[in-house]
Parts: sequence; C-alpha cells; structure tokens
Amino acid sequence: MGRLAIIGGGAAGLAAAVTAARELRMLGVPGDVAVYEADERVGRSILATGNGRCNFSNARIDAGAYRNAAFVGSALGALTAGSDPVHAFFADLGLVWREEGEGRLYPLANKATSVLDVLRAAAADFGVREACGRRAVRIDVPDRPGGRFHIRFADGTVGHADAVVLATGGRTARELLPEGIGFAAARPVLGPLRTATDVVRHLNNLRVRCAVTLAGPDGAPKAREAGELLFRDYGVSGIAVFNLSRFAEPGDRLLVDLLPQMPEGDCAGFLHARRRRLSADGRPLSREAFLRGMLLPAVARAVLEEAGLAPGAPFAKRDVPTLAAALKAFPLEVRGMGDERQCQVRRGGADVAAFDPRTLEARAVPGLHVVGEALDVDAPCGGYNLHWAWASGILAGRAAATRLMGSDDVAQGEGR
Ligand SMILES: Cc1cc2nc3c(=O)[nH]c(=O)nc-3n(C[C@H](O)[C@H](O)[C@H](O)COP(=O)(O)OP(=O)(O)OC[C@H]3O[C@@H](n4cnc5c(N)ncnc54)[C@H](O)[C@@H]3O)c2cc1C
Repeated sequence: MGRLAIIGGGAAGLAAAVTAARELRMLGVPGDVAVYEADERVGRSILATGNGRCNFSNARIDAGAYRNAAFVGSALGALTAGSDPVHAFFADLGLVWREEGEGRLYPLANKATSVLDVLRAAAADFGVREACGRRAVRIDVPDRPGGRFHIRFADGTVGHADAVVLATGGRTARELLPEGIGFAAARPVLGPLRTATDVVRHLNNLRVRCAVTLAGPDGAPKAREAGELLFRDYGVSGIAVFNLSRFAEPGDRLLVDLLPQMPEGDCAGFLHARRRRLSADGRPLSREAFLRGMLLPAVARAVLEEAGLAPGAPFAKRDVPTLAAALKAFPLEVRGMGDERQCQVRRGGADVAAFDPRTLEARAVPGLHVVGEALDVDAPCGGYNLHWAWASGILAGRAAATRLMGSDDVAQGEGR
C-alpha cells in the first residue's frame, strides 16, 4: 500500500488530502493518506480567514493578479477546463456559497466553519488520517529511485512515505526543503502600512472613501487601489492599503485622492464653482468652512496643513490650485509594514522555478510537492490566496495519488 504524507493541515494540505484520498477510493486503489499537523487540530488557519467568514475564493480569478503570475497561470490552466475546478471541488463536497462585491465568494452560512466542516467530513469519509501535534522538522528525500521519504518530527518519531506534499504555509522553515531548491526568507505583506506619523496620528480611526496611488521615491506610480482607507496612529489600514502593501517599500509615497470620482482636470473648476456658491449669500468663507460638509473636520485640517493654508484665513481664488493638488494627492510617506499580526500572507518561500506548475512537484525530487503559501506565491485580498491554496493542493493531491497507484506494497509504518 502506497503512502502519502501531507505536512500541514491548513487549506492547501486538506485540499491535497481530500483530493488524493478521493482519487484512490474512486479507483479502488489502497493507499494511506496522512495529514501531519503541528497544531492540536487541523484547519485552524481557515477559521481565521475573512473575519471568521472565509472568503474562500473569487468568481473572477485572474492569474495576472498573483506574484509569479506565469507560474500560477500554468498551474490554474492545468486544472480541467469547464466550470472552475476549485468551485467544482467544493460543490462536490456539498458547500453552498454566495457572491459578494468584487466577486468575493463566502459560504452561504457565512461561517468559515462550513468550509472546514465539509473538508474534514470528506477527509474522514475517504479515510484520511489526521495526525495532530506532529511538527515536521526535516524531510529526508529517497536516496535511490523508488525509495521512500523519511519525515522527522519534533517529538523524535519518523514517518515514511512514497510521496510528500509540503503544505506548511507562509512560515515554512527552510530546513524542510531539500538543498538545491531556491528559497526566499518570508516577510509579512497584505497588511497595514506604517507611515510618517505627523499627519496620521491626528486622524486615528477615521475612514475615508478614496483612491490611493503608491508611488516610488522617483514619483513613478507602482500601483493604484480604490476603496476605504482607515487612518491609524501608526499609519493606514483597509483593504486598499493591504493590497498596495504587496508592492510598497520604505521611502515610497501613498498619494490619497480624496475626490476619486472627479477627474483631475475638473477639480479646480469644481472648487471655483463651490467658492462662488458658498460666498453668494455674503457669509464669510474661511478655508476651513470651505471644506465643511465635504471632508471630516480633522481630515480637512490635515489637508489644509499639507497645502500650507491656514484654516481660519478667508478662502481666496488663488488658493484653488494648491487645495486641488492636496485633495487629489494627499501624500503619506511609507516607512514599512504596520502591525504584522494583521498581515494575511507572507511573501517568499520556495522558488517556483524549481517546480512543475501542473503538479507542484519538485523537478529535482520526484514525489515531493510544495503547495499553497509555502511557495513564493501571493495575491491581493478577495479570496485569491485561499483559491491558490485549494488549487495547488488539488493539483498536488491528484499527482501524488497517481504516484501511489504505481508504488510497491512495502509499507514500513512509523517508528523512532
Ligand atoms: C487573518 C487572516 C485572514 C485571511 N483571510 C483570507 C480570506 O478571507 N481569503 C483568502 O483568500 N485568504 C485569506 N487569508 C490568507 C490565507 O489564510 C492563506 O493564504 C492560506 O491559509 C494559505 O494556505 P496554506 O495551506 O498554504 O497555509 P496555512 O493555511 O497557513 O496552513 C499551514 C498549516 O501547516 C501547519 N504547519 C506549519 N508548519 C508545520 C510543520 N513543520 N509541521 C506540521 N505542520 C505545520 C500549520 O499549523 C497550518 O495548519 C487570510 C490570512 C489571515 C492571517
């Protein structure tokens, strides 16, 4: 009986386990599929997603949005055509979902537990073994063709397998990968950004609807996002900022457009017309009063300060170009990532160049697959990261099952 060891019982590991065990069951091939999980239960990472609701996929997945987009495009293309195979996988498990804004998919019951429940139930039905509290510390690759992998655990035990799926997520240790596979130390991204605090500390917890451009030190735009921005005393947060954080470097600038619906060329005209209207009845019109009803007072004060306009002075015609510039590109200097505990993924991990995108199998180590966030793949918010975890897990699970079908019946069991 062939053995498949899946290291890590998160999103990608469970998708790989269910896929492999289901394929073996459907073909009537005996096989042992085990999930080794460091935590005392599988799937805890899934429960934390989407604020407990699990934005598990997106209706409009675009491979171009991923880091290492060509590799991801080949991998997603290798899943069967027709309806999205990740969605078909979950439909087969019984999950029902609904679509929210921007194609985000959530389970109908609105709870991440629904997603984990269908995965665990299928895993149990197909005979997957869950081995929790088992932290893998090293994987010894076969020393001869047809040989077995030896997986060493922190508790001193050793497991043996014909194929291994490494699904240990963004914190994957370099030591788990064989030498020769490129590896970039991972750093958290997809989270809040720390900025110069002179402005933001006066705006803590205020939200604005805006568009934000991330510009490099030379002023060249690197990325743009629209949505809600949340000011924090250390910087800025919100989905638009999370997405920009994937490209941000210290020294970059965020240029916040506080009038995102208005083309830049129309802004001065709008401000002139507003000035005429608000002063038509002879009321005094200070610069602060000019922005009243348009921006939150604290935001208005910050914009005026940025523009170098004293709030109490009368709003003059000559103020229009300066104010228009500050409203369309309110600048914040990026200092680095903000609260790393809020970051949703880690950038880095195993170099995709070492893997076949159709199977996620290491080119130099047949039978070893690396999936999910353990690979150097990440994407914006919106269900993209979990979609990758499921998709890569399914591909690796399929390929590993195929390998097990051809493996000899030389099971060794586990020992110290
Ligand atoms: C707060 C938060 C919210 C998120 N929300 C979303 C969302 O709504 N939508 C979305 O698409 N993405 C979301 N993400 C990202 C998403 O959760 C990850 O991209 C995804 O879980 C990665 O799947 P994975 O299987 O590669 O890793 P994980 O799901 O992290 O699973 C890795 C597993 O391996 C185990 N493990 C690690 N090392 C070892 C070891 N040595 N031995 C044995 N086991 C080990 C871990 O305990 C863990 O169970 C969110 C992330 C966070 C942090």
